[in-house]
Amino acid sequence: MDKQALKLKRIQDVDLENKKVLVRVDYNVPMEGTKVMDKTRIQETLPTLRHLLDANCKTILLSHRGRPTTKARDQFSLKPLLPILKDILGVPVHFSEDFMGSSVQSVIDKAKPGEAVLLENLRFHPGEEKNDNTFAKSLAQLGEYFIQDAFGTLHRAHASTVGVPRYLPGAIGYLVQKELKFLDRVLGNPERPFLAILGGAKVSDKIGVIHRLMDRVDTLLIGGGMAYTFLAAQGVSVGKSLVEKNKISDAEKIIEEAYNRSLELLVSPDHLMVKEIKPDAEMVVSQAMAVQEGWIGVDIGLHTLELFTEKIAEAKTIFWNGPMGIFEIPAFAQGSLELAKAMAKATEEGAMTIVGGGDTLAVLAKAGVSKKMTHCSTGGGATLELMEGKTLPGLLALSQQE
Ligand code: AMP
Repeated sequence: MDKQALKLKRIQDVDLENKKVLVRVDYNVPMEGTKVMDKTRIQETLPTLRHLLDANCKTILLSHRGRPTTKARDQFSLKPLLPILKDILGVPVHFSEDFMGSSVQSVIDKAKPGEAVLLENLRFHPGEEKNDNTFAKSLAQLGEYFIQDAFGTLHRAHASTVGVPRYLPGAIGYLVQKELKFLDRVLGNPERPFLAILGGAKVSDKIGVIHRLMDRVDTLLIGGGMAYTFLAAQGVSVGKSLVEKNKISDAEKIIEEAYNRSLELLVSPDHLMVKEIKPDAEMVVSQAMAVQEGWIGVDIGLHTLELFTEKIAEAKTIFWNGPMGIFEIPAFAQGSLELAKAMAKATEEGAMTIVGGGDTLAVLAKAGVSKKMTHCSTGGGATLELMEGKTLPGLLALSQQE
């Protein structure tokens, strides 16, 4: 997506001194109970928040987390983020359980310029996901300016992403700028060879991205659960492995297109197989591409790992989205972890490595190489939609302002 074509203002281009500023952040962080398991998404917003606090802004933070239901709300509260924010920002951070009316207003009034206010999980209000106009308007009334820094949420047309900018002038924050810059580099003029690695469970989510990537990459590697739909499309038996039957014909078309363009498309040639998906299952490596009757492919095999590692070592630009196996179970995580390490080595040797998607970032963290990529994208769906060439509603809303 071209920032210029969308006419987006940037935070550094507007005068925000002493203003009340609403900032949409993406604090959809993984939590166990009240413990935040990974603070990356919070830390990544620091440049934007520091900019605002240094400009003496009352900085009002808006975010969602998870998919709260009315029955199980408490576990999705943003309140446990308060001590982390206070620690990272070094200023008082106030909290409001309400989004509208006098109670949130009095919390904001109490905050001094240069202090922050965190509102409760926006999805506690039904108006957020419905993109309700009244809700958007009442949020907008809390501030004088809107900064969009929730990259991971830009593909959602919700009240806080597309509704608020209808009522408040806005600009993009530093995190959104950084994410767009890296994706522009990948989609613009990447250094070659350009390699894309796709894995994960759902082919349906990634069909559009594969088509777009085929215009650009030199090599496309497919592993993880996705591989079995591609193998089935070639008539290879896949046992009880995950297959999206209604996507087999799409996979066939992709394989044919790759052949016609002489594009290198490699689907994992061997697999770690089990009869049941459980941590202590008996494991066998397939002798060839086929998964035998009654078995399930749960990770890439050694031969695949060798082949994929070789391709990574040769590439100058690498985009990776989707784990190579059911990495949540340690016994099936080897392929993904080793691939992560190969990516880290490639970065050290000068390749540009870009990794996107929550699960793939979790793999990097498990392998201890999160800091060793050129860029870890905080967006999953948003990254994929941008790579497909879609216009993200959150950016469109800002570019349509007068
Ligand atoms: P996605 O959201 O499509 O990127 O998928 C991520 C999920 O794919 C992870 O939860 C993995 O456990 C899952 N996954 C990866 N490989 C396989 C596989 N061979 N069979 C089933 N699920 C898989």
